[in-house]
Amino acid sequence: MSHGYPRVAYFCMEFGLSETLTIYSGGLGVLAGDFLRSARALGVPLVGVGIAWDEGYTVQRIGADGLPEDLPVKLDRSLLETEQATVSVTIAGREVPLQIHRVDRFNNAPLYLLEPREARDRWITRRLYGGGPDDRVAQEIVLGVGGVRALAALGVQTDLYHFNEGHAVFAGLELIRRKRGRGVSFDRAWKQVRQQIVFTTHTPVDAGNEKHELEVLRRMGAKQGFTQHELERIGGRPFNMTVAGLRLSLRANAVAELHGDTARKMWSHVGDAAPIGAITNGVDHRVWQDARVRDGANDDATLEDARQGCKRDLLIEVELRTGVRLDPDQLVIGFARRATAYKRATLLFHDRPRAEALLASGKVQLIFAGKNHPKDAGGRALVAELVALATRYPKQVVFLADYDLKLGRMLTRGCDVWLNTPRRPLEACGTSGMKAAMNGVLNVSILDGWWVEGCTDGVTGWQIGEEQSYPSDEAADAADAGALHQLLEREVLPAYYDDRPRWRQMMRASIDMALTRFSSDRMVREYYATLYTREEPARRAAVGG
Ligand SMILES: *Cc1c(COP(=O)(O)O)cnc(C)c1O
Repeated sequence: MSHGYPRVAYFCMEFGLSETLTIYSGGLGVLAGDFLRSARALGVPLVGVGIAWDEGYTVQRIGADGLPEDLPVKLDRSLLETEQATVSVTIAGREVPLQIHRVDRFNNAPLYLLEPREARDRWITRRLYGGGPDDRVAQEIVLGVGGVRALAALGVQTDLYHFNEGHAVFAGLELIRRKRGRGVSFDRAWKQVRQQIVFTTHTPVDAGNEKHELEVLRRMGAKQGFTQHELERIGGRPFNMTVAGLRLSLRANAVAELHGDTARKMWSHVGDAAPIGAITNGVDHRVWQDARVRDGANDDATLEDARQGCKRDLLIEVELRTGVRLDPDQLVIGFARRATAYKRATLLFHDRPRAEALLASGKVQLIFAGKNHPKDAGGRALVAELVALATRYPKQVVFLADYDLKLGRMLTRGCDVWLNTPRRPLEACGTSGMKAAMNGVLNVSILDGWWVEGCTDGVTGWQIGEEQSYPSDEAADAADAGALHQLLEREVLPAYYDDRPRWRQMMRASIDMALTRFSSDRMVREYYATLYTREEPARRAAVGG
Protein backbone atom coordinates (compact mmCIF):
# COMPACT_ATOMS: atom_id res chain seq x y z
CA MET A 1 0.00 0.00 0.00
CA SER A 2 1.19 3.50 -0.71
CA HIS A 3 0.09 6.29 1.63
CA GLY A 4 -2.55 3.97 3.06
CA TYR A 5 -4.52 3.62 -0.17
CA PRO A 6 -4.58 0.28 -1.98
CA ARG A 7 -2.94 0.38 -5.39
CA VAL A 8 -5.67 -0.39 -7.87
CA ALA A 9 -5.56 -1.58 -11.49
CA TYR A 10 -8.84 -0.59 -13.16
CA PHE A 11 -9.59 -2.89 -16.11
CA CYS A 12 -12.08 -1.79 -18.73
CA MET A 13 -12.79 -2.68 -22.36
CA GLU A 14 -13.11 0.99 -23.37
CA PHE A 15 -11.97 4.39 -22.11
CA GLY A 16 -13.56 7.65 -23.25
CA LEU A 17 -10.96 10.24 -22.29
CA SER A 18 -11.23 12.45 -25.36
CA GLU A 19 -12.99 12.46 -28.70
CA THR A 20 -9.51 12.31 -30.24
CA LEU A 21 -8.59 9.03 -28.51
CA THR A 22 -11.06 6.81 -30.34
CA ILE A 23 -10.95 3.74 -28.08
CA TYR A 24 -14.46 4.13 -26.71
CA SER A 25 -17.97 3.47 -27.91
CA GLY A 26 -20.43 4.74 -25.30
CA GLY A 27 -21.39 5.24 -21.68
CA LEU A 28 -19.11 2.57 -20.15
CA GLY A 29 -16.07 4.20 -21.73
CA VAL A 30 -17.12 7.74 -20.81
CA LEU A 31 -17.49 6.62 -17.21
CA ALA A 32 -14.07 4.94 -17.22
CA GLY A 33 -12.53 8.12 -18.62
CA ASP A 34 -14.04 10.27 -15.88
CA PHE A 35 -12.93 7.67 -13.32
CA LEU A 36 -9.29 8.00 -14.40
CA ARG A 37 -9.44 11.79 -14.38
CA SER A 38 -10.87 11.93 -10.88
CA ALA A 39 -8.32 9.37 -9.68
CA ARG A 40 -5.61 11.68 -10.96
CA ALA A 41 -7.23 14.78 -9.44
CA LEU A 42 -7.52 13.05 -6.05
CA GLY A 43 -3.97 11.70 -6.25
CA VAL A 44 -4.89 8.08 -5.51
CA PRO A 45 -2.62 5.25 -6.70
CA LEU A 46 -4.72 3.86 -9.54
CA VAL A 47 -3.89 2.89 -13.13
CA GLY A 48 -6.19 1.96 -16.01
CA VAL A 49 -5.75 -1.12 -18.18
CA GLY A 50 -7.40 -1.32 -21.59
CA ILE A 51 -6.92 -2.07 -25.26
CA ALA A 52 -5.51 0.12 -28.04
CA TRP A 53 -8.37 -0.59 -30.45
CA ASP A 54 -7.34 0.01 -34.04
CA GLU A 55 -10.98 0.93 -34.70
CA GLY A 56 -12.94 1.82 -31.60
CA TYR A 57 -15.22 4.77 -32.05
CA THR A 58 -17.29 4.80 -35.25
CA VAL A 59 -18.51 7.93 -37.03
CA GLN A 60 -22.22 7.95 -37.73
CA ARG A 61 -23.46 9.28 -41.05
CA ILE A 62 -27.05 9.43 -42.21
CA GLY A 63 -27.47 8.27 -45.81
CA ALA A 64 -29.78 9.81 -48.41
CA ASP A 65 -32.19 6.98 -47.58
CA GLY A 66 -32.40 8.22 -43.98
CA LEU A 67 -30.58 5.17 -42.63
CA PRO A 68 -27.50 5.49 -40.40
CA GLU A 69 -24.12 4.10 -41.40
CA ASP A 70 -21.30 3.63 -38.93
CA LEU A 71 -17.82 4.14 -40.31
CA PRO A 72 -14.73 3.08 -38.39
CA VAL A 73 -12.08 5.60 -37.38
CA LYS A 74 -8.41 4.64 -37.15
CA LEU A 75 -6.67 5.19 -33.83
CA ASP A 76 -4.32 8.19 -33.81
CA ARG A 77 -1.18 6.50 -32.53
CA SER A 78 0.60 9.81 -31.95
CA LEU A 79 -1.45 10.02 -28.72
CA LEU A 80 0.31 6.92 -27.32
CA GLU A 81 3.74 6.46 -25.75
CA THR A 82 5.00 2.94 -26.32
CA GLU A 83 6.70 1.24 -23.37
CA GLN A 84 9.90 -0.78 -23.68
CA ALA A 85 8.48 -3.79 -21.86
CA THR A 86 6.51 -6.38 -23.82
CA VAL A 87 4.52 -9.44 -22.75
CA SER A 88 2.81 -12.26 -24.57
CA VAL A 89 -0.36 -14.33 -24.29
CA THR A 90 -1.38 -17.60 -25.92
CA ILE A 91 -4.39 -17.38 -28.18
CA ALA A 92 -5.70 -20.37 -30.13
CA GLY A 93 -2.38 -22.14 -29.62
CA ARG A 94 -0.27 -19.25 -30.88
CA GLU A 95 2.01 -17.08 -28.81
CA VAL A 96 0.91 -13.48 -29.37
CA PRO A 97 3.44 -10.83 -28.35
CA LEU A 98 1.82 -7.67 -27.02
CA GLN A 99 3.11 -4.15 -26.83
CA ILE A 100 2.07 -1.79 -24.09
CA HIS A 101 1.21 1.86 -24.72
CA ARG A 102 0.84 4.50 -22.07
CA VAL A 103 -1.58 7.44 -22.17
CA ASP A 104 -1.52 10.24 -19.62
CA ARG A 105 -2.08 13.44 -21.55
CA PHE A 106 -5.74 13.88 -20.66
CA ASN A 107 -5.37 14.80 -16.98
CA ASN A 108 -5.85 11.12 -16.27
CA ALA A 109 -4.30 8.53 -14.00
CA PRO A 110 -1.90 6.46 -16.16
CA LEU A 111 -3.67 4.28 -18.68
CA TYR A 112 -1.93 1.22 -20.18
CA LEU A 113 -3.26 0.00 -23.50
CA LEU A 114 -2.44 -3.39 -24.96
CA GLU A 115 -2.12 -4.35 -28.59
CA PRO A 116 -0.58 -7.25 -30.52
CA ARG A 117 2.87 -6.31 -31.72
CA GLU A 118 2.75 -8.23 -34.99
CA ALA A 119 0.55 -7.37 -37.97
CA ARG A 120 -0.70 -10.95 -38.30
CA ASP A 121 -2.22 -10.80 -34.79
CA ARG A 122 -3.83 -7.40 -35.18
CA TRP A 123 -7.20 -8.94 -36.12
CA ILE A 124 -7.70 -9.46 -32.39
CA THR A 125 -7.90 -5.78 -31.52
CA ARG A 126 -9.15 -4.50 -34.88
CA ARG A 127 -12.60 -3.47 -33.72
CA LEU A 128 -14.11 -2.69 -30.31
CA TYR A 129 -17.03 -5.11 -29.70
CA GLY A 130 -16.42 -6.47 -33.20
CA GLY A 131 -16.33 -10.02 -34.50
CA GLY A 132 -17.91 -13.21 -33.21
CA PRO A 133 -17.49 -15.19 -29.96
CA ASP A 134 -13.96 -16.37 -30.87
CA ASP A 135 -12.81 -12.79 -31.51
CA ARG A 136 -14.41 -11.55 -28.32
CA VAL A 137 -12.69 -14.22 -26.21
CA ALA A 138 -9.38 -13.42 -27.92
CA GLN A 139 -9.86 -9.72 -27.09
CA GLU A 140 -10.70 -10.58 -23.52
CA ILE A 141 -7.57 -12.73 -23.17
CA VAL A 142 -5.53 -9.72 -24.29
CA LEU A 143 -7.28 -7.46 -21.78
CA GLY A 144 -7.37 -9.83 -18.79
CA VAL A 145 -4.35 -12.11 -19.12
CA GLY A 146 -2.28 -9.56 -21.03
CA GLY A 147 -3.23 -6.88 -18.51
CA VAL A 148 -2.01 -8.86 -15.48
CA ARG A 149 1.25 -9.72 -17.27
CA ALA A 150 1.75 -6.14 -18.45
CA LEU A 151 1.45 -4.74 -14.92
CA ALA A 152 4.02 -7.26 -13.70
CA ALA A 153 6.37 -6.51 -16.62
CA LEU A 154 6.11 -2.77 -15.99
CA GLY A 155 6.69 -3.22 -12.27
CA VAL A 156 3.36 -1.59 -11.42
CA GLN A 157 2.60 -2.85 -7.92
CA THR A 158 -1.04 -3.84 -7.59
CA ASP A 159 -3.03 -4.56 -4.43
CA LEU A 160 -6.45 -4.77 -6.09
CA TYR A 161 -7.64 -5.69 -9.57
CA HIS A 162 -10.91 -3.95 -10.39
CA PHE A 163 -12.90 -5.54 -13.22
CA ASN A 164 -15.13 -2.77 -14.49
CA GLU A 165 -17.73 -5.01 -16.18
CA GLY A 166 -17.19 -8.70 -16.97
CA HIS A 167 -14.87 -8.36 -19.96
CA ALA A 168 -11.75 -8.58 -17.79
CA VAL A 169 -12.50 -11.73 -15.77
CA PHE A 170 -9.79 -13.78 -17.50
CA ALA A 171 -7.42 -11.69 -15.40
CA GLY A 172 -8.83 -13.61 -12.42
CA LEU A 173 -8.09 -16.92 -14.14
CA GLU A 174 -4.55 -15.72 -14.81
CA LEU A 175 -4.03 -14.83 -11.14
CA ILE A 176 -5.24 -18.32 -10.12
CA ARG A 177 -3.03 -19.93 -12.78
CA ARG A 178 0.02 -18.12 -11.38
CA LYS A 179 -0.62 -19.40 -7.87
CA ARG A 180 -1.19 -22.94 -9.11
CA GLY A 181 2.10 -22.71 -10.96
CA ARG A 182 3.69 -22.29 -7.53
CA GLY A 183 1.98 -25.46 -6.28
CA VAL A 184 -1.12 -23.97 -4.62
CA SER A 185 -4.34 -26.01 -5.03
CA PHE A 186 -7.17 -24.72 -7.20
CA ASP A 187 -9.49 -24.03 -4.26
CA ARG A 188 -6.85 -22.30 -2.22
CA ALA A 189 -5.65 -20.24 -5.17
CA TRP A 190 -9.23 -19.19 -5.96
CA LYS A 191 -9.79 -18.19 -2.35
CA GLN A 192 -6.57 -16.21 -2.25
CA VAL A 193 -7.10 -14.28 -5.49
CA ARG A 194 -10.53 -13.24 -4.31
CA GLN A 195 -8.78 -11.07 -1.77
CA GLN A 196 -7.31 -9.10 -4.65
CA ILE A 197 -10.31 -8.67 -6.97
CA VAL A 198 -13.36 -6.38 -6.98
CA PHE A 199 -16.04 -6.26 -9.64
CA THR A 200 -18.58 -3.78 -11.01
CA THR A 201 -21.67 -4.91 -12.91
CA HIS A 202 -23.26 -2.40 -15.27
CA THR A 203 -26.36 -3.78 -16.87
CA PRO A 204 -29.73 -5.15 -15.79
CA VAL A 205 -30.48 -6.08 -19.42
CA ASP A 206 -29.95 -9.83 -19.61
CA ALA A 207 -28.44 -9.79 -23.12
CA GLY A 208 -25.83 -7.28 -21.94
CA ASN A 209 -24.28 -9.96 -19.73
CA GLU A 210 -21.88 -11.89 -21.90
CA LYS A 211 -21.75 -15.70 -22.01
CA HIS A 212 -19.36 -18.04 -23.76
CA GLU A 213 -19.52 -21.73 -24.62
CA LEU A 214 -16.80 -23.65 -22.78
CA GLU A 215 -15.73 -25.00 -26.17
CA VAL A 216 -14.91 -21.46 -27.32
CA LEU A 217 -12.86 -20.85 -24.16
CA ARG A 218 -11.00 -24.10 -24.81
CA ARG A 219 -10.39 -23.38 -28.48
CA MET A 220 -9.13 -19.84 -27.92
CA GLY A 221 -6.96 -20.74 -24.93
CA ALA A 222 -8.80 -19.04 -22.07
CA LYS A 223 -9.30 -22.45 -20.44
CA GLN A 224 -5.58 -23.21 -20.34
CA GLY A 225 -4.61 -24.83 -17.05
CA PHE A 226 -8.19 -25.46 -15.89
CA THR A 227 -10.45 -28.47 -16.05
CA GLN A 228 -13.92 -28.03 -17.44
CA HIS A 229 -15.34 -28.63 -13.99
CA GLU A 230 -13.19 -25.88 -12.47
CA LEU A 231 -14.26 -23.37 -15.10
CA GLU A 232 -17.90 -24.30 -14.57
CA ARG A 233 -17.54 -23.73 -10.85
CA ILE A 234 -16.41 -20.18 -11.59
CA GLY A 235 -18.59 -19.10 -14.50
CA GLY A 236 -21.26 -21.76 -14.96
CA ARG A 237 -22.13 -23.31 -18.28
CA PRO A 238 -22.17 -21.53 -20.66
CA PHE A 239 -19.50 -19.46 -18.96
CA ASN A 240 -21.16 -16.25 -17.82
CA MET A 241 -18.68 -13.40 -17.47
CA THR A 242 -20.81 -11.60 -14.85
CA VAL A 243 -21.21 -14.77 -12.77
CA ALA A 244 -17.45 -15.29 -13.01
CA GLY A 245 -16.87 -11.70 -11.91
CA LEU A 246 -19.11 -12.21 -8.89
CA ARG A 247 -17.40 -15.48 -7.90
CA LEU A 248 -13.86 -14.26 -8.43
CA SER A 249 -14.22 -11.10 -6.39
CA LEU A 250 -14.12 -10.07 -2.77
CA ARG A 251 -16.92 -7.59 -3.20
CA ALA A 252 -18.97 -6.25 -6.08
CA ASN A 253 -21.11 -3.26 -6.82
CA ALA A 254 -23.90 -1.99 -9.01
CA VAL A 255 -23.86 1.58 -10.32
CA ALA A 256 -26.87 3.19 -8.56
CA GLU A 257 -29.01 2.33 -5.51
CA LEU A 258 -31.97 1.03 -7.54
CA HIS A 259 -29.59 -0.89 -9.79
CA GLY A 260 -28.19 -2.47 -6.61
CA ASP A 261 -31.66 -3.85 -5.76
CA THR A 262 -32.14 -5.03 -9.33
CA ALA A 263 -28.71 -6.66 -9.52
CA ARG A 264 -29.09 -8.44 -6.17
CA LYS A 265 -32.34 -9.99 -7.40
CA MET A 266 -30.94 -10.71 -10.82
CA TRP A 267 -27.95 -12.65 -9.44
CA SER A 268 -29.50 -14.10 -6.28
CA HIS A 269 -29.35 -17.62 -7.79
CA VAL A 270 -25.55 -17.45 -8.00
CA GLY A 271 -24.02 -19.32 -5.08
CA ASP A 272 -20.72 -18.23 -3.59
CA ALA A 273 -21.00 -14.78 -5.14
CA ALA A 274 -19.52 -11.62 -3.68
CA PRO A 275 -22.07 -9.37 -2.01
CA ILE A 276 -23.33 -6.63 -4.35
CA GLY A 277 -23.35 -3.11 -2.97
CA ALA A 278 -24.13 0.08 -4.86
CA ILE A 279 -21.96 3.04 -5.75
CA THR A 280 -23.74 5.59 -7.88
CA ASN A 281 -21.79 6.83 -10.88
CA GLY A 282 -20.61 10.39 -11.24
CA VAL A 283 -19.17 12.69 -13.91
CA ASP A 284 -16.08 14.90 -14.02
CA HIS A 285 -17.34 18.44 -13.47
CA ARG A 286 -14.01 19.84 -14.74
CA VAL A 287 -14.92 18.45 -18.15
CA TRP A 288 -18.69 18.58 -18.25
CA GLN A 289 -19.65 21.82 -16.52
CA ASP A 290 -19.45 24.97 -18.62
CA ALA A 291 -17.15 27.59 -17.08
CA ARG A 292 -19.76 30.34 -17.55
CA VAL A 293 -22.31 28.35 -15.57
CA ARG A 294 -19.74 27.50 -12.91
CA ASP A 295 -18.82 31.15 -12.44
CA GLY A 296 -22.28 32.63 -12.88
CA ALA A 297 -24.58 30.46 -10.82
CA ASN A 298 -24.88 32.87 -7.89
CA ASP A 299 -26.40 35.85 -9.63
CA ASP A 300 -29.72 35.91 -11.54
CA ALA A 301 -28.49 37.93 -14.49
CA THR A 302 -25.18 36.11 -14.93
CA LEU A 303 -26.87 32.71 -14.62
CA GLU A 304 -29.35 33.60 -17.38
CA ASP A 305 -26.46 34.96 -19.50
CA ALA A 306 -24.42 31.81 -18.98
CA ARG A 307 -27.38 29.62 -19.93
CA GLN A 308 -28.11 31.70 -23.01
CA GLY A 309 -24.47 31.51 -24.04
CA CYS A 310 -24.52 27.71 -23.83
CA LYS A 311 -27.79 27.55 -25.75
CA ARG A 312 -26.49 29.90 -28.45
CA ASP A 313 -23.36 27.75 -28.91
CA LEU A 314 -25.54 24.68 -29.36
CA LEU A 315 -27.96 26.32 -31.79
CA ILE A 316 -25.06 27.58 -33.93
CA GLU A 317 -23.74 24.02 -34.05
CA VAL A 318 -27.21 22.73 -34.97
CA GLU A 319 -27.42 25.21 -37.83
CA LEU A 320 -23.92 24.34 -39.05
CA ARG A 321 -24.70 20.64 -39.04
CA THR A 322 -28.29 20.62 -40.32
CA GLY A 323 -29.07 24.05 -41.76
CA VAL A 324 -31.98 24.31 -39.30
CA ARG A 325 -32.18 27.57 -37.37
CA LEU A 326 -33.88 26.86 -34.05
CA ASP A 327 -35.44 29.70 -32.06
CA PRO A 328 -33.35 30.66 -28.99
CA ASP A 329 -36.49 31.94 -27.24
CA GLN A 330 -38.27 28.60 -27.50
CA LEU A 331 -37.72 25.73 -25.07
CA VAL A 332 -35.21 23.15 -26.33
CA ILE A 333 -35.58 19.55 -25.15
CA GLY A 334 -32.58 17.27 -25.68
CA PHE A 335 -32.48 13.51 -25.91
CA ALA A 336 -29.17 11.76 -26.69
CA ARG A 337 -28.80 8.05 -25.96
CA ARG A 338 -27.74 4.76 -27.39
CA ALA A 339 -30.59 3.89 -29.77
CA THR A 340 -32.05 0.83 -28.13
CA ALA A 341 -35.69 -0.09 -27.53
CA TYR A 342 -35.85 0.20 -23.72
CA LYS A 343 -34.75 3.84 -23.79
CA ARG A 344 -37.93 4.72 -25.75
CA ALA A 345 -36.57 7.70 -27.72
CA THR A 346 -39.97 8.23 -29.39
CA LEU A 347 -42.10 8.10 -26.22
CA LEU A 348 -43.21 11.69 -26.74
CA PHE A 349 -44.69 10.60 -30.10
CA HIS A 350 -46.48 7.58 -28.63
CA ASP A 351 -49.67 9.64 -28.81
CA ARG A 352 -49.13 11.24 -32.21
CA PRO A 353 -52.03 13.78 -32.15
CA ARG A 354 -50.97 15.00 -28.73
CA ALA A 355 -47.36 15.37 -29.88
CA GLU A 356 -48.49 17.29 -32.95
CA ALA A 357 -50.63 19.59 -30.83
CA LEU A 358 -47.61 20.23 -28.62
CA LEU A 359 -45.44 21.11 -31.61
CA ALA A 360 -48.24 23.25 -33.10
CA SER A 361 -48.26 25.31 -29.90
CA GLY A 362 -44.85 26.61 -31.04
CA LYS A 363 -43.47 26.12 -27.54
CA VAL A 364 -41.22 23.11 -27.95
CA GLN A 365 -38.18 22.18 -30.02
CA LEU A 366 -36.53 18.76 -29.89
CA ILE A 367 -32.93 17.76 -30.51
CA PHE A 368 -32.19 14.05 -30.85
CA ALA A 369 -28.86 12.27 -31.16
CA GLY A 370 -27.73 8.70 -30.73
CA LYS A 371 -26.07 5.72 -32.34
CA ASN A 372 -27.22 2.14 -32.56
CA HIS A 373 -25.07 -0.84 -31.72
CA PRO A 374 -23.56 -1.90 -35.07
CA LYS A 375 -25.23 -5.31 -34.95
CA ASP A 376 -28.61 -4.07 -33.69
CA ALA A 377 -31.08 -3.85 -36.59
CA GLY A 378 -33.84 -2.62 -34.27
CA GLY A 379 -31.62 0.20 -33.03
CA ARG A 380 -30.80 1.17 -36.60
CA ALA A 381 -34.52 1.35 -37.42
CA LEU A 382 -34.97 3.52 -34.34
CA VAL A 383 -32.35 6.02 -35.55
CA ALA A 384 -34.11 6.05 -38.94
CA GLU A 385 -37.38 6.80 -37.12
CA LEU A 386 -35.78 9.82 -35.38
CA VAL A 387 -34.36 11.03 -38.69
CA ALA A 388 -37.84 10.70 -40.21
CA LEU A 389 -39.36 12.76 -37.38
CA ALA A 390 -36.84 15.51 -38.11
CA THR A 391 -37.81 15.42 -41.77
CA ARG A 392 -41.48 15.57 -40.91
CA TYR A 393 -41.23 18.51 -38.47
CA PRO A 394 -38.27 20.34 -40.00
CA LYS A 395 -38.53 23.57 -38.04
CA GLN A 396 -38.86 22.03 -34.59
CA VAL A 397 -37.23 18.60 -34.56
CA VAL A 398 -33.61 17.93 -35.47
CA PHE A 399 -31.48 14.81 -35.44
CA LEU A 400 -27.75 15.40 -34.95
CA ALA A 401 -25.60 12.63 -36.38
CA ASP A 402 -22.48 11.31 -34.71
CA TYR A 403 -23.08 11.63 -30.97
CA ASP A 404 -19.60 11.72 -29.45
CA LEU A 405 -17.95 13.33 -26.42
CA LYS A 406 -17.85 16.75 -28.08
CA LEU A 407 -21.51 16.71 -29.08
CA GLY A 408 -22.30 15.30 -25.64
CA ARG A 409 -20.68 18.37 -24.07
CA MET A 410 -22.59 20.79 -26.30
CA LEU A 411 -25.95 19.08 -25.78
CA THR A 412 -25.71 18.68 -22.01
CA ARG A 413 -24.76 22.35 -21.74
CA GLY A 414 -26.97 23.91 -24.39
CA CYS A 415 -30.47 22.40 -24.04
CA ASP A 416 -33.06 23.72 -21.58
CA VAL A 417 -34.45 20.33 -20.63
CA TRP A 418 -32.84 16.88 -20.67
CA LEU A 419 -35.32 14.11 -21.35
CA ASN A 420 -34.85 10.50 -20.21
CA THR A 421 -37.51 7.87 -20.77
CA PRO A 422 -36.16 4.37 -20.00
CA ARG A 423 -38.40 1.46 -19.20
CA ARG A 424 -37.82 1.10 -15.48
CA PRO A 425 -35.64 -0.51 -14.06
CA LEU A 426 -33.48 -1.11 -17.14
CA GLU A 427 -31.36 2.05 -16.94
CA ALA A 428 -28.59 1.00 -14.55
CA CYS A 429 -27.53 4.57 -13.83
CA GLY A 430 -27.17 6.96 -16.77
CA THR A 431 -24.71 9.82 -16.58
CA SER A 432 -25.71 12.30 -19.29
CA GLY A 433 -28.46 13.63 -17.01
CA MET A 434 -25.81 14.43 -14.36
CA LYS A 435 -23.85 16.44 -16.93
CA ALA A 436 -27.01 18.31 -17.88
CA ALA A 437 -27.94 18.91 -14.24
CA MET A 438 -24.59 20.50 -13.39
CA ASN A 439 -25.15 22.97 -16.22
CA GLY A 440 -28.61 23.97 -15.04
CA VAL A 441 -30.30 21.93 -17.79
CA LEU A 442 -33.36 20.56 -16.02
CA ASN A 443 -33.96 16.82 -16.08
CA VAL A 444 -37.38 15.48 -17.02
CA SER A 445 -36.98 11.77 -16.42
CA ILE A 446 -38.52 8.47 -15.45
CA LEU A 447 -37.53 7.57 -11.89
CA ASP A 448 -34.86 5.11 -12.93
CA GLY A 449 -31.09 4.85 -12.46
CA TRP A 450 -29.48 7.84 -10.75
CA TRP A 451 -32.62 9.99 -11.01
CA VAL A 452 -34.26 8.08 -8.15
CA GLU A 453 -31.55 9.68 -6.02
CA GLY A 454 -31.20 13.04 -7.75
CA CYS A 455 -34.83 14.00 -8.22
CA THR A 456 -36.75 16.17 -5.83
CA ASP A 457 -39.82 16.60 -8.00
CA GLY A 458 -40.42 20.21 -8.97
CA VAL A 459 -37.21 21.31 -7.21
CA THR A 460 -34.16 19.77 -8.92
CA GLY A 461 -36.09 18.75 -12.05
CA TRP A 462 -39.17 16.60 -12.66
CA GLN A 463 -40.15 12.94 -12.53
CA ILE A 464 -42.28 11.42 -15.27
CA GLY A 465 -45.03 9.26 -13.79
CA GLU A 466 -44.75 7.28 -10.59
CA GLU A 467 -42.30 4.81 -9.08
CA GLN A 468 -44.32 1.79 -10.09
CA SER A 469 -44.30 -1.25 -12.36
CA TYR A 470 -46.84 -2.13 -15.03
CA PRO A 471 -48.35 -5.43 -16.22
CA SER A 472 -46.82 -5.02 -19.70
CA ASP A 473 -44.48 -2.83 -21.72
CA GLU A 474 -47.49 -1.50 -23.64
CA ALA A 475 -49.19 -0.43 -20.43
CA ALA A 476 -46.01 1.23 -19.18
CA ASP A 477 -45.49 3.07 -22.47
CA ALA A 478 -49.04 4.41 -22.59
CA ALA A 479 -49.00 5.51 -18.95
CA ASP A 480 -45.55 7.10 -19.15
CA ALA A 481 -46.31 8.90 -22.44
CA GLY A 482 -49.48 10.38 -20.91
CA ALA A 483 -47.61 11.42 -17.78
CA LEU A 484 -44.87 13.06 -19.86
CA HIS A 485 -47.32 15.17 -21.84
CA GLN A 486 -49.22 16.20 -18.75
CA LEU A 487 -45.97 17.18 -17.04
CA LEU A 488 -44.85 19.30 -19.98
CA GLU A 489 -48.22 21.02 -20.31
CA ARG A 490 -48.85 21.67 -16.63
CA GLU A 491 -45.41 22.19 -15.15
CA VAL A 492 -42.48 22.51 -17.49
CA LEU A 493 -43.82 24.92 -20.12
CA PRO A 494 -45.53 27.27 -17.63
CA ALA A 495 -42.37 27.45 -15.52
CA TYR A 496 -40.13 28.07 -18.53
CA TYR A 497 -42.28 30.71 -20.19
CA ASP A 498 -44.15 32.38 -17.33
CA ASP A 499 -42.15 31.94 -14.15
CA ARG A 500 -38.47 32.71 -14.75
CA PRO A 501 -37.74 33.14 -11.00
CA ARG A 502 -38.91 29.55 -10.45
CA TRP A 503 -36.94 28.29 -13.43
CA ARG A 504 -33.79 30.01 -12.13
CA GLN A 505 -34.34 28.59 -8.68
CA MET A 506 -34.66 25.12 -10.15
CA MET A 507 -31.52 25.57 -12.26
CA ARG A 508 -29.61 26.50 -9.12
CA ALA A 509 -31.01 23.55 -7.19
CA SER A 510 -30.08 21.26 -10.08
CA ILE A 511 -26.50 22.56 -10.32
CA ASP A 512 -26.05 22.28 -6.57
CA MET A 513 -27.47 18.75 -6.42
CA ALA A 514 -25.29 17.53 -9.29
CA LEU A 515 -22.03 19.08 -8.06
CA THR A 516 -22.39 17.91 -4.49
CA ARG A 517 -23.68 14.40 -5.15
CA PHE A 518 -22.89 13.28 -8.70
CA SER A 519 -19.30 14.27 -9.38
CA SER A 520 -16.85 11.52 -10.24
CA ASP A 521 -14.60 12.78 -7.40
CA ARG A 522 -17.33 11.67 -4.98
CA MET A 523 -17.63 8.40 -6.90
CA VAL A 524 -13.91 7.59 -6.72
CA ARG A 525 -13.80 8.49 -3.01
CA GLU A 526 -16.69 6.13 -2.44
CA TYR A 527 -14.91 3.31 -4.32
CA TYR A 528 -11.94 3.80 -2.00
CA ALA A 529 -14.14 3.92 1.09
CA THR A 530 -16.33 0.90 0.32
CA LEU A 531 -15.14 -1.28 -2.56
CA TYR A 532 -11.38 -0.96 -2.27
CA THR A 533 -11.18 -2.06 1.34
CA ARG A 534 -9.63 -5.33 2.36
CA GLU A 535 -11.71 -6.82 5.16
CA GLU A 536 -13.68 -9.89 4.16
CA PRO A 537 -17.45 -9.41 3.75
CA ALA A 538 -20.00 -12.18 4.37
CA ARG A 539 -20.55 -14.40 1.34
CA ARG A 540 -23.55 -16.46 0.41
CA ALA A 541 -23.17 -20.19 0.94
CA ALA A 542 -21.69 -22.17 -1.92
CA VAL A 543 -24.19 -23.97 -4.10
CA GLY A 544 -23.17 -27.10 -6.01
CA GLY A 545 -19.47 -27.53 -6.81
C1 LIG B 1 -22.30 10.85 -20.99
C2 LIG B 1 -22.28 10.13 -22.28
C3 LIG B 1 -22.84 8.86 -22.40
C4 LIG B 1 -23.52 8.15 -21.25
O1 LIG B 1 -24.71 8.79 -20.90
P1 LIG B 1 -26.07 8.01 -20.65
O2 LIG B 1 -26.91 8.94 -19.89
O3 LIG B 1 -25.72 6.78 -19.89
O4 LIG B 1 -26.64 7.70 -22.00
C5 LIG B 1 -22.80 8.24 -23.62
N1 LIG B 1 -22.22 8.82 -24.69
C6 LIG B 1 -21.68 10.06 -24.62
C7 LIG B 1 -21.07 10.65 -25.84
C8 LIG B 1 -21.70 10.74 -23.42
O5 LIG B 1 -21.15 11.96 -23.35
